[in-house]
Amino acid sequence: MLSPRRLFGTNGIRGVANKELTSEMAITIGSAVGTFFKNGTLIVGHDARTSSPMLAKAVIAGLNATGCDVLFVGMSPTPALQYAVKNHKPDGAVIITASHNPPEYNGIKVIWNDGIELSREQEIAVENIFFDGKMRYAEWDNIGTTRDLPGVIEDYTEAIKKHVNTEMIAKKHYRIVIDAANSVGNLAAPYLFRDLGCKVMTINGNIDGTFPGRLPEPRVENLTELASTVKAVGADLGVAYDGDADRSVFVDENGEICWGDKTFALIGKYFLKDNPNEKIVTPISSSTLIKDIADTYKGKLVWTKVGSVTVSQTMKKIKAKLGGEENGGIFYGPHQSVRDGAMATALILDIMAKTRKKLSKLIGELPKYFIEKGKVECPENLKEKTLENLIKQMKGLNISTIDGVKVWFKDKSAILIRPSGTEPIYRLYAEAKNEQKAKQLVNEYCLKLRRLIASLKD
Ligand code: MG
Repeated sequence: MLSPRRLFGTNGIRGVANKELTSEMAITIGSAVGTFFKNGTLIVGHDARTSSPMLAKAVIAGLNATGCDVLFVGMSPTPALQYAVKNHKPDGAVIITASHNPPEYNGIKVIWNDGIELSREQEIAVENIFFDGKMRYAEWDNIGTTRDLPGVIEDYTEAIKKHVNTEMIAKKHYRIVIDAANSVGNLAAPYLFRDLGCKVMTINGNIDGTFPGRLPEPRVENLTELASTVKAVGADLGVAYDGDADRSVFVDENGEICWGDKTFALIGKYFLKDNPNEKIVTPISSSTLIKDIADTYKGKLVWTKVGSVTVSQTMKKIKAKLGGEENGGIFYGPHQSVRDGAMATALILDIMAKTRKKLSKLIGELPKYFIEKGKVECPENLKEKTLENLIKQMKGLNISTIDGVKVWFKDKSAILIRPSGTEPIYRLYAEAKNEQKAKQLVNEYCLKLRRLIASLKD
């Protein structure tokens, strides 16, 4: 739950359109952001949601009112808009998207001049302007202008091609099925991979902001149609994007869904083979699989708090070239240090072409872990105390307290226990070399947590 003085959650401003996030609010947010950027020039674009054009117009009105000029892109994948910031060097950008959230939601992401979302300190500055009503409106003769910015998606796909061996991929004539959830992923990826010599088939390929095909989050239960289509048409690869196409989840030629940890580890492995001693950035929620890869191929792994903005900011700070998340976010620094679904897909095709191996084989060559998840209810007011006590109980174990508490055991099993930022629960993520051990870990720590929370209630 956000405090009364907070607009931004872990990834921008989010809410149900016309209820929590109204056009009136969007104008004021536009003016607060415009005041923050002081007469700057900002790129504005949006995803395919039904409420996105309305909210984009409102944000633009607010920006123009404070004297900011707007370069309007229209509908576009989020990573293409972030790349446009890198390419055109405006002062920043505003993206209207709720990413993977259900269709009724929308959101406002504010991007700094490096293409990365604002830091928490910058967000606080915008929030202070918004809540204190400190918007600085321009005089009538200084109101900002808005003009269209064409060619953003073409520039973006051309940039991706520079980071892979296009000739080698083209020779393979891969068959690929793309499921972009009726959203903006359809505007870039199908054309990019056609240019790379692939035979591209799409499902949920028509743009429709009601998301009639599947929900915008690429979770296993939303990808059954993609998995069966890949098998039915004998494709080499399937890929699903989330609602704004920054996350990608892959399906191998047998119709098996490969979760984000695995594809990140695969990309990490071949990245480190070519770039030994480089740093790889990943949130503490990622599998030990990533650490195994970093150790084997002489990389340096840097753990962060959970959240894509933290990964981007950390990569920038320590000059890392690769980042990844278990949910299918791949950050390829040589292109841009933000999540990028089409870039991740190009990297996977590059590895398949280079090794002449099928995706199932490449994934099969990685170390294996079994993952189990659990949750325990915990009142908001006990979350902090619970964590403090839990950490005390774990004294002597190999732990990290970057975000919640993670314990690594000698038998290569591990468990992460962290309070949810949005619900009154603790989430548990266990992994082990066999399924039974992973389940046992979740059960054991669920019980420990319940006992601890009960004792704190007394
Ligand atoms: Mg997204």
